[in-house]
Amino acid sequence: MVIDFDKFDSDDDLNCNLCIIGAGAAGITLAREFNNTKINVILVESGGIEYDHQIQKLYDGETYVTEGSIRRKIYFNSLMAWRLRFFGGTTNHWVGKCEPFRDIDFEKRSWISNSGWPINAADIEKYYRRADKVIQLSSSVYSDELWHHLNIAPFEFNKDRIETWFGQRSGFLREAGNPDSWRDITGKEQGAIRFGKEYRNELFDSNNVKVLLHANAVDLITNNDINHVNSLKISNLSRVRESKIIADTFVLCAGGFENPRILLNSGNRDNGGIANNNGLVGKYYLGHPFAEFGTLVTRDQEQADKLGHDFSMHKALEKNLVDPHLRFSNACLNNNKMLNIGIWLRAISDKNSGIYSAIEIYKQLILNKTLPNNLTKNMINVLKDIDDVIVQSFRNASDDPSSSYTTSRFVIPTEQSIRIWGIVEQAPISDSKVHLSTNQDELGLNKIIVDWKLNGQEKQTMRRALIILGNEFGRLNIGRVKIDDWLLEDDNLLGPLSDTGIGSHPAGTTRMSTTSVSGVVDVNCRSHFIDNLYISGSSIFPTNSYVSPTHTIVALSIKLADHIKRNLVHKSQT
Ligand SMILES: Cc1cc2nc3c(=O)[nH]c(=O)nc-3n(C[C@H](O)[C@H](O)[C@H](O)COP(=O)(O)OP(=O)(O)OC[C@H]3O[C@@H](n4cnc5c(N)ncnc54)[C@H](O)[C@@H]3O)c2cc1C
Repeated sequence: MVIDFDKFDSDDDLNCNLCIIGAGAAGITLAREFNNTKINVILVESGGIEYDHQIQKLYDGETYVTEGSIRRKIYFNSLMAWRLRFFGGTTNHWVGKCEPFRDIDFEKRSWISNSGWPINAADIEKYYRRADKVIQLSSSVYSDELWHHLNIAPFEFNKDRIETWFGQRSGFLREAGNPDSWRDITGKEQGAIRFGKEYRNELFDSNNVKVLLHANAVDLITNNDINHVNSLKISNLSRVRESKIIADTFVLCAGGFENPRILLNSGNRDNGGIANNNGLVGKYYLGHPFAEFGTLVTRDQEQADKLGHDFSMHKALEKNLVDPHLRFSNACLNNNKMLNIGIWLRAISDKNSGIYSAIEIYKQLILNKTLPNNLTKNMINVLKDIDDVIVQSFRNASDDPSSSYTTSRFVIPTEQSIRIWGIVEQAPISDSKVHLSTNQDELGLNKIIVDWKLNGQEKQTMRRALIILGNEFGRLNIGRVKIDDWLLEDDNLLGPLSDTGIGSHPAGTTRMSTTSVSGVVDVNCRSHFIDNLYISGSSIFPTNSYVSPTHTIVALSIKLADHIKRNLVHKSQT
C-alpha cells in the first residue's frame, strides 16, 4: 500500500512491527524481504516518486577538506548534487558498478589503524548471492577466468603481486528502444536498475508493507533511559502534517550522511543526540578518493592497442556488462602496507583517426540527431582512413552478442600511452567526521558539516601501486610508467584527490564494531545502546575497500532482514 503523507488525513498514531526510515537501496531491499510476511512494515520516505527541488534542499550542508594544517571549504555542493532524496534514493542516478568486498577488506590489518570488521567474508558470501538477484547481476564470477569467456588472451601478470579482476554493471542488457536505458553506439542498451522504478509496484501493491511518501523522519523518541525507541516523529515538508509511528523495531536506511544526522538531531541535540554515548556517531567518515595518477607509455602501438582493447572498455558477458581492472594480491598489500586499491587503464583515443571521427559523426548525426561538431575535420579523417572505417563497419555489422560491447567492437586506434586511474580505500581516522552545523533546514533540523581528512596512507598507496605496476609492465616488456607530479609531493597535499571522492560513497559514520568503544552498531547492525534500533547502509562500514558500496549495502540489508525476522518471531512467541 502507498500513502501520500502530504494528504494524510488522520490524527491517529501509525502502528507497525517494523519501521524503516529511507527508501533507497538499503530501505527498499529490507522492505521487500518482509513483503508477504506477517510482519507489518512502514517504509518512511522523505520524497515522492519524482525529484522535487524543495525536498532535495533538505540535503543541503557544507563540506571541508583539510590539507596539512589548512582547512578549506569545498564549494561544489556534493551533498546536494550527488545524493537524491526521493523514492529509490541515490540509485535514481547511480552508475551500477558492482563487486563484492574481498576477504582482506574485512580483516584487521596491522598497518591500518581502526581496520577490521566484526564479520568476515564468509559471513556475508551467501547474502551477496541473494543481492545479485536484487541488483540484476547474472554471474558471481569476478576473477580472471572471465578473460577466457571473452576470448581474450590476458597479460601474464605475476599473480603474487597483481591480479586482473572484473566488476559487473547492475541491470541486464536490453535491446534498443527502452527509454530508461543508457544507449551505446551499437544500439544495444544497458541501465543500472533504479530501485524506485523496479520495485515500486511490488511495494505499493503489498498487503503488509505501507510506503509513506513525503514523510520525513525528524525525531527518534526514546524512553527516559535512552535505551529503547518508543516512536518516530514524522513531518511533511510544510510541517502542516505531523504524526508518530509506533513500532517494535526501527531501522535507519537514510544513507551514509543522513543516518548519523538523524541520530545527532534526535533527543537532546546539545547532548549529542541518541545512540551516541561514546561520541562516535558521525566520526570515522570515509570518502572514496580517486584520480588519474600516472601514465603508461607502451613499448609500441601494438601494446597500446591491446591494453586499450582489453582494459578500456566495457564488455558484454552473459546478461551484464563487465569491467576489467587490476588489483593487488593480499600478500602484496600486506608486504607493501597498502590500502586496498583498484586500477583502471584508459587508452587515449587517437582523435585524428578515421574510425574515431566516423563514430563521432554517427553518434551525433544518427543517435542525437544534431549536426556534428567539427564536421569538415571529421569527414577528412574518415576519407583519409576509409579502408579501416569500411573494415570496422563490416566487423560491427556481423553482430555477435557475446563479443565485446560498446566502442570495443569499433577498434579505435589509441595513442601510444595509457592513463592510469585508481580508486583507493580511505584509512579510517576519527578526525574525519560528519557533525551538526548551527544552520537548520525547513524542518528545523540542524544541517551537517562534513570535515574530510586523509592521513596520507592513500597517497602512499597510490605511489606504491604505480611502482609495482611499473615493475610488472617493465618485466613483461609492455612499457614504462610515469608517475604524475602531484603524487610525488608531500603526502599532506592532496592534489586532485581534494576535489574527488567526498560525497558519492559516504561511509563509516555509524561504524560496526564488537564493542561500543570503537563503533556505533554491533555485529547485527544494532545500536550498542538502543535495543530496538538498527542501521543499514554504508554508514556501518568500518573500512570501505576500493569497491563501490551498493552490492555490499544490499547484501547487508538482506542479512539484517533475516536477523530481524528471527528476532520478531522470537518476540511474538515469548
Ligand atoms: C553519481 C553517483 C554514482 C554512483 N555509482 C555507484 C556505482 O556505480 N556503484 C555503487 O555501488 N554505488 C554507486 N553510487 C552510490 C550508491 O548510489 C549508494 O551506495 C546507494 O544509493 C546507497 O543506498 P542507501 O539506501 O544507503 O542510500 P540512498 O540511496 O541515498 O537512499 C536514502 C533514502 O533515504 C531517504 N531519506 C533521507 N533522509 C530521510 C529522512 N529524514 N526521512 C525519510 N527519508 C529520508 C532519501 O530520500 C532516500 O530515498 C553512486 C552514487 C552517486 C552519487
